[in-house]
This record gives sequence, C-alpha cells and structure tokens, in this order.
Amino acid sequence: MSSTMHKSPPNKSQKLIVQKFGGSSMGSIERIQNVARRAVKTASEGHQVVVVVSAMQGETDRLLKLAAGVSSRPADREIDVLLATGEQVSIALLALAIRELGFQARSFLGHQVEIRTDSMHGSARIRSIKADPVHECLQNGEIVVIAGFQGVDQHGNITTLGRGGSDLSAVAMAAALKADACEIYSDVDGIYTTDPNVYAKARKIPRIGSEEMLELASLGAKVLQTRSVEFALKYKVTLHCRSSFSDGEGSWVVPEMSGLEGAEMKGLEGAVVTAVSCDKNIAKLTIVGMADKPGAAARLFAPMADAGINIDVIIQNPPENGRTDVTFTVPRNAADRAVALIEGLQDELGFVRCSLDKRLAKVSVVGAGMVSQPGVAQRTFAALGDAGINIVLVSTSEIKISCVVEDQFADAAVRVLHDKFELEKT
Ligand code: ADP
Ligand code: ASP
Ligand code: MG
Repeated sequence: MSSTMHKSPPNKSQKLIVQKFGGSSMGSIERIQNVARRAVKTASEGHQVVVVVSAMQGETDRLLKLAAGVSSRPADREIDVLLATGEQVSIALLALAIRELGFQARSFLGHQVEIRTDSMHGSARIRSIKADPVHECLQNGEIVVIAGFQGVDQHGNITTLGRGGSDLSAVAMAAALKADACEIYSDVDGIYTTDPNVYAKARKIPRIGSEEMLELASLGAKVLQTRSVEFALKYKVTLHCRSSFSDGEGSWVVPEMSGLEGAEMKGLEGAVVTAVSCDKNIAKLTIVGMADKPGAAARLFAPMADAGINIDVIIQNPPENGRTDVTFTVPRNAADRAVALIEGLQDELGFVRCSLDKRLAKVSVVGAGMVSQPGVAQRTFAALGDAGINIVLVSTSEIKISCVVEDQFADAAVRVLHDKFELEKT
C-alpha cells in the first residue's frame, strides 16, 4: 500500500505549514475527512504539512463527566491521563483518513515529539519541544499529525495544557519548527468584533495586533486560547485564523505593528473600541467579616495561587469595627476548589462566611485606542444602564473595561455594547 502512496512533490517555494484543527473541525467522521482533504491539498501544492488536532467535539467534556462519575475529587494526574486519550483518537483517525487519500501520514502523541512541560497538571507550561522527529518525517514527504493539548513532564507523566490548549500546541510547534505559517482553523472564518454566534452584526477584523488579541482572548473570545496568543507574541509567530469549511482568507494576528499600520490599529484613525468579549466562566466569592489586618489578604490568596487558580476583579470594602468584606472573581470551573481552600482558612482568618455566586458573566469592551480616549467607561455604563442591565463589579485597564453582570443578561450586554460603539461599521 505505502509504495503507491504520494509524497509531497518538490516545490522550489516549499513552505512548512502548521495547521491546527480543533473540536469544531473534528466533530464527526465526515469532518475528519474534510480536515484530511485540507491537509492533503496543502501537501499536494508541494508544502510540508504538520497538523495539530484536538479531541473530537464534546469528547473532552464527555471524559470529564466519566471521571466525575467515579470520583468526587479526581486526581489531576489521572485526569490528564484520561483527557489525553481524546486527542489520541483524533490523530489516529486523521492519519488514517489522510492515508486513505493516498498520502503518507504519521501520528504522534505529545511525548513522542517530546513536548516537555512542567508538572502543573491541567495547566502545564511548555518548556521545550524536540523538533527532530518531525523534521525527519517531513523530509520523507510525510504529513505529520500531532496530538494537541498534551505534553510530558520530566518524570514521564502525561500533562495537559489547559482547555483550548491545542491552539498553544500548534503555536509552540510552529515556533519550534520555524514554520512559515501557522493556520488555526475553526467553525468561524476569522476573528470578529464579537462572537458571531452571539451577534450576527459582528464584523470580521482582517488584521489585529497580538497584544489586543491577547486581551480579547483573556476576556473570553475563545476563538484563540489566551496562552497561544501570549506565546505567538513572545516568539513572533503570525497566526492566520480561518474556517475549516471555506477557502477564503481569515484574520491575521500579527505580533507587532509599527508605523502607520500600528497607529491605525491603536485607534489614531478613530476606532476606540475594537471588540466586545464575553466570559461566561465566572464566579464571585465574597469573604464576609474578615479581620482588617496587614497580611490577611496575602494569606487569603496564597492557597489559590499555589493551586493555580486565577483571581480576577478584587474589591475590598472599607473596614467597619476592624472587619472588612473581600469580593473577587475566579473561573467558575475552579470556584468549588477555591471555596474549599478558603474554608480551610476560616479558623486562622476568623471570617464569618464565604459566599459564592456562579450565575455571572464578564462582558468587556477592548481597544488599544482607549488609552488616549476619555469617556469610554461612561458610555459603557450608560449603554448597560439604558438596557436595564445591572453592573455587579467593574474592572478597567488602559485598553479594556470589564463589567460583571448576571449571566442571563450577558448576550444582551454584548449586543448593546456592540451597537453603542458602532462596531458593525468599518
Ligand atoms: P475549536 O474547537 O476549533 O478550537 P473554538 O470553539 O474553541 O474552536 O473557537 C471558535 C469559536 O469561538 C466560534 O465558534 C465562536 O463562537 C467563538 N468566538 C468567541 N469570540 C469570537 C470572536 N471575537 N471572533 C470569532 N469567534 C469567536
Ligand atoms: N480537547 C481540549 C479541550 O477541549 C483541547 C482543545 O480543544 O484545544 O479543551
Ligand atoms: Mg478552541
């Protein structure tokens, strides 16, 4: 069989292209065959192709549910062993589908291409990648298929990189291989002014700077995983976000823009707000009646920092009778763990109770052009107020304003803000 297989034809302008296909592109056998055709098309144009894939759509959630069925507090190490199987299925099926089209393909798990990480199970950081086995296969004309989202720590344990982490695997692979292009395929044909599945008036952004994209991603625009954008910025990898269902050009995420282009992107031509993001993975914790003494806040947050739980908006009320309330947000999927850690400190910190609200979302307006433009916060609050949407918490930086609202109003808030800043217009 392999003797009849095609190899990439020689091409003087041969490029090394990393293509990433996520769950949204790998939802069924037909979709996997579609991915195979795309990889083969690129290879038949004479390019070297490395495909990074995620688990089939819904598979990672399904595996997590299985774990919850057998354990109330599953060990992080075993969860990673379990979750990594999702991507193992994908790489094998895709390699088979590519071979069926008459092209040579070889699949690799994370540890087989030595994606080395630290030992932080569930949110491991990539330390190094050994590109040699991949280069070897590419030189033999094979399409290389790599499992995203997973790596291996120094003790040989399987690790995973955090939800949506295949984007990071692809960007890191592109950097390690010094690829000419890194294409991130999904079910949308680019990066929009807001999630096009939430608001049909969203407009495609043809080019966006990585710093602005980093802000958008970290505020919930899951079209790119936050750490993948961070990595792309650091290692100067240009990303092309495009659709796995059409051939058109997508959106480019460029590491740095200078001169006129940079100035335009930063809003000197008038665009103050670039996009609206929404994060529905939010929960609010309030520690009621905490002793108002030096070091208390540091003690409160230490166990969560050790557990890798990200704290976001923090508010401390003015003290009364030597006691204060501290409110902050955490990712909703880490909220129960955060509560357990905090309750462990109750005797030491002497607070009255820890209350939890999971029915919240964070809606943010983002734009590098905000730095020099006063009034964006006022317009944001006015738009939400006029729509009868109550703001629970606010946080701001130079280039974003985030409002925590009840999650039942999140989509409406996105649409109201998109209209207020006229983002449908170019
Ligand atoms: P994959 O499974 O391929 O990794 P994701 O579901 O993670 O794909 O990302 C694609 C989704 O990102 C889209 O379906 C869209 O709903 C969502 N999304 C959120 N914000 C944006 C945005 N600003 N632009 C485009 N897509 C967005
Ligand atoms: N399969 C993993 C997840 O669902 C990784 C990814 O999709 O990028 O989070
Ligand atoms: Mg994704």
